[in-house]
Amino acid sequence: MATWDPEFEVVIGLEIHAQLATETKIFCGCPAKAPEGKNVSEVDSNWNTCPVCAGHPGTLPKLNARVLEYATKAGLAMGCQIRENSVFSRKNYFYPDLPKGYQISQFDKPICENGTIEIDVGKDKKTVRVQRIHMEEDAGKNLHMDDFSLVNLNRACVPLIEIVSEPDMRSPEEAGAYMRAVHAIVTTIGVCDGNLQEGNFRCDANVSVMPKGSKTFGTRAEIKNVNSFRFVEKAIEYEISRQIALVKSGGKVVQETRLYDSAQNKTFSMRSKEEAHDYRYFPEPDLIPVKLDKNWIEKIRETLPELPAQKRARFVSELGLSAYDAGVVTSTGSLAKLLEDTLALTSKKGIDAKTAAKSATNLLTGEISRLSKEEEKDVSESKLTAVHLADLVHAITSSLVSSTGAKTALLAAWNGEGTIESIIEKHGLKQVSDTGALEAAIDAVIAENAGQFAEMKSGKDKLLGFFVGQTMKKTGGKANPGLLQELIKKRLS
Ligand SMILES: [Zn+2]
Repeated sequence: MATWDPEFEVVIGLEIHAQLATETKIFCGCPAKAPEGKNVSEVDSNWNTCPVCAGHPGTLPKLNARVLEYATKAGLAMGCQIRENSVFSRKNYFYPDLPKGYQISQFDKPICENGTIEIDVGKDKKTVRVQRIHMEEDAGKNLHMDDFSLVNLNRACVPLIEIVSEPDMRSPEEAGAYMRAVHAIVTTIGVCDGNLQEGNFRCDANVSVMPKGSKTFGTRAEIKNVNSFRFVEKAIEYEISRQIALVKSGGKVVQETRLYDSAQNKTFSMRSKEEAHDYRYFPEPDLIPVKLDKNWIEKIRETLPELPAQKRARFVSELGLSAYDAGVVTSTGSLAKLLEDTLALTSKKGIDAKTAAKSATNLLTGEISRLSKEEEKDVSESKLTAVHLADLVHAITSSLVSSTGAKTALLAAWNGEGTIESIIEKHGLKQVSDTGALEAAIDAVIAENAGQFAEMKSGKDKLLGFFVGQTMKKTGGKANPGLLQELIKKRLS
């Protein structure tokens, strides 16, 4: 938990940019995604550009209908009102990665308004208001060399929604929880891939401080382009301490845009913050206003899947998961889907739903979370499938593999080594539950440690662990530990 001078109160609002998972860009037919199996960063510069997204004079934008559908879906999932008449506007500014000299965005008539998102902070629930969601195009990217710069327009015209919260958050943890909640929603409803490393889910954080109990917010600084849940909390934490120190020493916070450097864990001034009027917004003359039909909106509403918050509650009540575990497995659409697909398969194998859920969730919140973080890879990008997980749950619940063996098998499946059955075979992970083989190993251990065995027999219970350990060693760690213990205990009576 971040702490700061209790005389001060902190006010945070987030603007989240989520890249919509459409096949093509927002105003032209160029691919919006890298080809199958490639990351955006691996693709040649300017490979997916055309005169429209390269901003050639005389070209005209044409709105991608899927963008409209996805933006509406996101708005409905966040409880927004959908505007039946919305308008695109030009946001004018000059920068080399924006060849038109303006960004097509929405200004006073965004597609979605007035939503709410519920977040969990520790044990408390809190509602953060969503002020608006608007559609816009992304800009390209500048690459600065020693004495010249290069422009890559692969991202130009890639569709984004910007989700703007009200300044309702009061701590870095709340901001992190909100960013995670939005991420869980957009990935669950499938409108955004949510890959933070690729920059398709990123946020700007507006942070200000004010004396406790004050009615007026302090001057805010905006931290730009943070693409990590952890770093958004760290950046805000740093910014709070910077602003409080500044105010206490008699200084004034200036309205500006800052960048967070994660290596130094500091924010740096980038430029003074523009006001809306600096952008000379006006309605985009090349696009007609967007008119949505009520029935169409309702049809989109019907396509909404179960949302993360509902799923979380159901996992707790139906599957008996803890609130924490349910929170982790519903944190992205892909994790929740993996669990549900796994449970569908384990039910066919006759494994009780709660037992299977507990076992699969242990793997998802433990080893799979670890691998996912370590390799900065979403579970959907790994080779691990629900079939693997269901087979592994079956192997665990039927004592075919130990928990250590399960971890090895999981890693192998994650890396694409084949079926669980073949992995267990290949890595020799099968637990020895054959009593004959175990009895023989126990005999050998007792013969080697006759003195200790006599002591144990005369009442030194603590030696049981020693004998289990020694026999386990003899079987190369493959003995079923429960069975082993049982067999050794039998020898005592
Ligand atoms: Zn294009």
